Amino acid sequence: MKKVVVVGSGAGGATIARELQGAFEVTILEAGQEYSPFKMSAKLQEKFKRTGMLFDERLIQFLFPVMKIQKTADRMILVRGIGTGGTTTLATANALPMDQNLKEAGIDLDPEFKELTKEIPISTEHQKRWREDTRLLFTIFQEMGLNPKPTPKMSDGELCTNCGRCILGCPTGAKWDSRKFLRDAQAKGARLVTGCRVEEITIRNGKAESVHCRSGWKKASYSADLVVLAAGGFGTPRILQSSGISCESRLFVDPVLCVACIRPNSFQNREIPMPFISQQKGYILSPYFDPLSFYFNKEWKPPAKNILSLMIKLADTNMGKVEGNKIDKTLTAQDHKKLEEAVAVCIKILGRLGVKQEETFLGTINAGHPGGMLPLSAAEAQSMHPPSLPDNLYVADASLLPRSLGNPPSLTIMAMAKRIAKVIQSL
Ligand SMILES: Cc1cc2nc3c(=O)[nH]c(=O)nc-3n(C[C@H](O)[C@H](O)[C@H](O)COP(=O)(O)OP(=O)(O)OC[C@H]3O[C@@H](n4cnc5c(N)ncnc54)[C@H](O)[C@@H]3O)c2cc1C
Ligand code: SF4
Repeated sequence: MKKVVVVGSGAGGATIARELQGAFEVTILEAGQEYSPFKMSAKLQEKFKRTGMLFDERLIQFLFPVMKIQKTADRMILVRGIGTGGTTTLATANALPMDQNLKEAGIDLDPEFKELTKEIPISTEHQKRWREDTRLLFTIFQEMGLNPKPTPKMSDGELCTNCGRCILGCPTGAKWDSRKFLRDAQAKGARLVTGCRVEEITIRNGKAESVHCRSGWKKASYSADLVVLAAGGFGTPRILQSSGISCESRLFVDPVLCVACIRPNSFQNREIPMPFISQQKGYILSPYFDPLSFYFNKEWKPPAKNILSLMIKLADTNMGKVEGNKIDKTLTAQDHKKLEEAVAVCIKILGRLGVKQEETFLGTINAGHPGGMLPLSAAEAQSMHPPSLPDNLYVADASLLPRSLGNPPSLTIMAMAKRIAKVIQSL
């Protein structure tokens, strides 16, 4: 049987490994370890914050090793998950089919979205348990013509208790993440190697021959008939570039900025994150208690239970690059203008709760949806294979997205991975 090496076990990697195992002998190389949730209670977290020891976001890695944080030159926080399940383990489980940009290039993922909705529990059941302030905000959004929609969540609605800990690890097992697909692949015989950071691929005579990685001090190589890179929007370009394949400087990250106010006992920190979404031109708005801002931003002084916050998630300009360990990403003047416009809308929304503009405060800009450095175009609509890659090397992650979605991307990444698996199986 032909051997396939899949690099990464996040949204793209776990999906394609599950699809290919059986027809191929699949080995998954994952840089991180088995995912482990953040166990500290909310009370203890707040006590810890009061010690003043949380002065830099990068410190979070010592408490919660899965969450990797880098900072850009202008101090934007870049977040990703390194471990089994990749960044899906940190996600808030939003499930939106977002293939508009791909449809423009002739790639219609509707069949794959249909398959995914049969394989993943997706529900808006959480709406029954919304807190009073969330209901109130939903009505305000409706009154302002912002067309809010309850967010479909990749979770078992019956098991979800609306505890608000999605990004730290779900205590009830309600939240779906790509480890479920990874386990399916393993149950069918796929081999998973954790703690294995891929550094380079040897390419000879136009073919990917072997994958080279490092586990601590040890080096190892895996030969393969076909390689699929799914190391995420930061990881994949890095491996390609060190293997001699250049990528495009079209990195997007979907920056998030929260606009918050004091709202005694609103307990948004114990509410399902992003319970509804309002999709606007170039950004989305959603209620969201931002833990990164709460723990690390000096402006976020009130106790967590007294903070009410709205998230802006921006579809940023495709401009930026990964170069070795460095990430070069700066928001453009147009991005800042769009953010200002969205902040003004949030201030109006909070104004309807009686909050004055001067009583609002902003969060720290952070981003967790990297991609775009190997974008698909209409010419690759059938092959799903960027021409700069050797025939037997595929990419199956957010790197392929032509533009920022400014929306939760994982369902779309998984649909792309399914389509790529079909292409590979038809070769
Ligand atoms: C806080 C947060 C909340 C989010 N919430 C949502 C949400 O609700 N809904 C949604 O759709 N999206 C959400 N996202 C985004 C979503 O999780 C990611 O966009 C998605 O997981 C990206 O999929 P991927 O396959 O491209 O990469 P990833 O899921 O990041 O997977 C990449 C994998 O590759 C591994 N890897 C990296 N480098 C190497 C290497 N050199 N060698 C071997 N392995 C490597 C990583 O450990 C990881 O397992 C959220 C993101 C964040 C940060
Ligand atoms: S709100 Fe809590 S119970 Fe519900 S999915 Fe998120 S972590 Fe799990």
